[in-house]
Amino acid sequence: MLEQIVIVGAGQAAVQAADTLRRKGFAGKITLIGEESWPAYQRPPLSKKYLAGSLATERLALRPPSFYSQHGIDLKLGCRVQEIARREQRVRLDDGSQVPYDALLLCTGSRPRKLPVDGLDLAGIHFLRTIADVDRIRAGFAPAKRLVVVGGGYIGMEVAATARELGLEVSILEMADRIMNRVTCPAVSDFYSMEHARRGVQIVCNARVRSFRGEAGSVRAVVTEGAKEYEADQVVIGVGVVAADELALAAGLECANGIVVDEYCRTSDAAIFAAGDCTNHPSPHYGRRFRLESVDHAFEQGTSAALNLLGIPTPHHKVPWFWSDQYDLKLVIVGLSHEYDTVVIRGDPSSRSFSACYLRGGELVAVDTVNHPKDQLAARKLIPAHARPQLERLADPAIALRDSV
Ligand SMILES: Cc1cc2nc3c(=O)[nH]c(=O)nc-3n(C[C@H](O)[C@H](O)[C@H](O)COP(=O)(O)OP(=O)(O)OC[C@H]3O[C@@H](n4cnc5c(N)ncnc54)[C@H](O)[C@@H]3O)c2cc1C
Repeated sequence: MLEQIVIVGAGQAAVQAADTLRRKGFAGKITLIGEESWPAYQRPPLSKKYLAGSLATERLALRPPSFYSQHGIDLKLGCRVQEIARREQRVRLDDGSQVPYDALLLCTGSRPRKLPVDGLDLAGIHFLRTIADVDRIRAGFAPAKRLVVVGGGYIGMEVAATARELGLEVSILEMADRIMNRVTCPAVSDFYSMEHARRGVQIVCNARVRSFRGEAGSVRAVVTEGAKEYEADQVVIGVGVVAADELALAAGLECANGIVVDEYCRTSDAAIFAAGDCTNHPSPHYGRRFRLESVDHAFEQGTSAALNLLGIPTPHHKVPWFWSDQYDLKLVIVGLSHEYDTVVIRGDPSSRSFSACYLRGGELVAVDTVNHPKDQLAARKLIPAHARPQLERLADPAIALRDSV
């Protein structure tokens, strides 16, 4: 009989799970413990509207402040869980206090990957994960200041777009031979490179950062291999994230690029579940394991975890989707395009509304849409159905994507 559920982390997956527990009638004690000082908030605007200064901090909240007391959720903020005592079924907090649990849900998210180079501690060098990070970054933003973004993934590209619109001089240094190479095909990378370049963003690929050079404790330049220097008043590093699984690892739970869970969000300990960015979970649709970083995934897995905790078997096997906003371009990626063998571009990228459809062995596995909600909606139906489109129909933008099968 479950009487007390403890949720570690107070982010997207955690609040979704707590909400689901109450909605499903769980009347026992719920304790939500988060190391940040804000209750659960949306991270996507951090590299977009919030960084631009056009969204107030309160608007980021995922639930109104009254939500927690109204639902009898004991919210402990600014507290880090230091240890899980599995045998005693207790977590120990950094203030020395202990909270017992019958079931524990780990929603510890992910953390920015560090760059192991000299000069990382200079003032003006930032990572971007939290409200506090963005408040620090924005304080240094002013027109004509030079911003160097290290990493041409989503977050780096979004920061570059926002900063450029605020009038900063922006350079992006990307180690690979094209931007967003981990998630999109060359045609989509090229399109985004051109969109940034025509707004004056300098994109340098094949650029491996070797160190940061400073003066009087503040960053002045980013130095790449080959001793090339890029002058900088500020640097934002966005080179990916790693799962925040150290607590689980120390407790002896199975971890491998994230906390290993089954499709019911169960870890290797029957009393401990996990959800969100921190998990390595199976995808029956793709027949392999993944670690995902997206709002949709945190929401869906947080919901499933809560239901499974309550003994309502709910496998988590939705096809994921993700979005990125850069300038007036909305990129929505439905599914996972890893190991595709064919890509079909629907429409002309110069029209700034097109899609890239990825197939493997004839099956549609993912679709990237740029300003194309119709294709996005169709993809969300076709991919879960293992659709096998006809290539000529797929390539013809006059034929609706849903009619390409
Ligand atoms: C700048 C930015 C932009 C993004 N943009 C998009 C986007 O456009 N679209 C999209 O789909 N996704 C986007 N994402 C990703 C999305 O926000 C994450 O996938 C989502 O927040 C994951 O939710 P989560 O609950 O797993 O983790 P989080 O929201 O990261 O919450 C985890 C919380 O756990 C806390 N924690 C960790 N360890 C402990 C501990 N030991 N004790 C107590 N607390 C702990 C952390 O401090 C954190 O507050 C973006 C992320 C960032 C950073």
